[in-house]
Amino acid sequence: MGRRKSKRKPPPKQKRILALSIVFPCPFCSHDHSCEVKIDRKANVGTIECRMCRETYSTSIHYLSEPVDVYNSWIDACEEQNRE
Ligand SMILES: [Zn+2]
Repeated sequence: MGRRKSKRKPPPKQKRILALSIVFPCPFCSHDHSCEVKIDRKANVGTIECRMCRETYSTSIHYLSEPVDVYNSWIDACEEQNRE
């Protein structure tokens, strides 16, 4: 009985996809991992939506923007509204 050589491991190249599908805690309903960011590279718009309370926010982005940047500007916008 001969053993087949099958020890070749595929390179870990899936990480970038994971980094794009980051979810965040919601500042409105306080659910963890309920806000999902969608990046529209063609329109340069980042949108975040909470699937628990349906709160949404969208902002303009540039080509270096990450999902976490969209989330941070959402938090900033919330804090500015709270200040009024
Ligand atoms: Zn929410």
